[in-house]
Amino acid sequence: MELLELVEDRSSGYGERLRRDKQGGGYKMTASTFDEIGRVLREHQHFAILGHVRPDGDALGSQLALALSLQQLGKDVRVWNEDGMLEKYSFLPRAELLTKPPATAIDVDVAIALDTAIQNRLGTALAAVGSAKIWVNIDHHSSNPGYGDLVIVDVSAPATGEIIFRLIRNQGLPLDHDIAENLYAAISTDTGSFQYPKTSARTFEIATELVRAGGLNVGKISQQLYENYPRRRLELLRELLRTMRFSEGGRVASFSLTLRTAADLGVLPEDNEGLIDHLRAVRGVIVAVFFEELADGKARVSMRSKDEAVDVCAICQKFGGGGHTLAAGARIRGNLVEVEERVLKEVGDKLEVYQRPSS
Ligand code: AMP
Ligand code: MN
Ligand code: MN
Repeated sequence: MELLELVEDRSSGYGERLRRDKQGGGYKMTASTFDEIGRVLREHQHFAILGHVRPDGDALGSQLALALSLQQLGKDVRVWNEDGMLEKYSFLPRAELLTKPPATAIDVDVAIALDTAIQNRLGTALAAVGSAKIWVNIDHHSSNPGYGDLVIVDVSAPATGEIIFRLIRNQGLPLDHDIAENLYAAISTDTGSFQYPKTSARTFEIATELVRAGGLNVGKISQQLYENYPRRRLELLRELLRTMRFSEGGRVASFSLTLRTAADLGVLPEDNEGLIDHLRAVRGVIVAVFFEELADGKARVSMRSKDEAVDVCAICQKFGGGGHTLAAGARIRGNLVEVEERVLKEVGDKLEVYQRPSS
């Protein structure tokens, strides 16, 4: 219990603090309280829980965790993602609950978007909600404009899973082994195994609480998350490294994937998640960029920064995308080579005004 109080002070709920920050000026996000969201969860029956297209562990784990908790309250819950459950996350407890959205729209009482910076990144899952009395938006992306009726966008959270955990604890919602494992997977993946800068004491406290409450086997979960890739992922990495280039005096590293190479290797979209980390891990590299040719005449850009002074979310927003300061993305119309040039020019311009701290 002591630990719980550390994690969530019930007397001044997290949402309240956000609201105060907002009123005090400067805090750019709209905010609802956990109490407001908890009330909506208790008072309604039919829910749809949605996450962003090309989902990651945070989106899928958060969706499943909240769905399982609501199911235990006797609620009717649909869990939709445009891409359905990914092969690599199919080990998540009760993964079968998460499906592709139905072709015919369904009316629900409450639709909840998780980990989704802009509403249209819900893709076909958005269209599958015929009507909803209330839209809830729970996320941690700095580019989230705060769409929806009830909104918690906490940019200090390293994962949406962390916010879901705090909501569950603050509102006394059910938390069992399956819910804990989904939340642990969400937090582990979005923090890069508890490495990225937003990983805080609170993150470790929550992880402790999840491991304890769920009786989790951390080694086994980590093996399923990080040591269970299909061989083609490494073959993909080999091809990507052939296209690797460095610019701006070694401060920018990039590689790219053509549709042709993807087809030759038989890779799935999910296979490239995390490969960009190899570029970022090089000494001297500040910005890593991954370009992927898409079938719809666009290219997908993934960007990572090692320095808060170089905000890749701002760069991606220029191209209609978004994300976080240190990890962002966009989908840009144009052929691969053209998009590479435009984006690398923009990154170069940003780095020009950026002063490395004198060492
Ligand atoms: P990724 O490079 O795909 O792992 O994405 C990095 C971060 O940026 C994630 O948090 C994404 O949700 C976000 N992001 C990626 N692509 C987009 C996009 N087209 N629009 C808004 N946010 C994005
Ligand atoms: Mn995500
Ligand atoms: Mn996330």
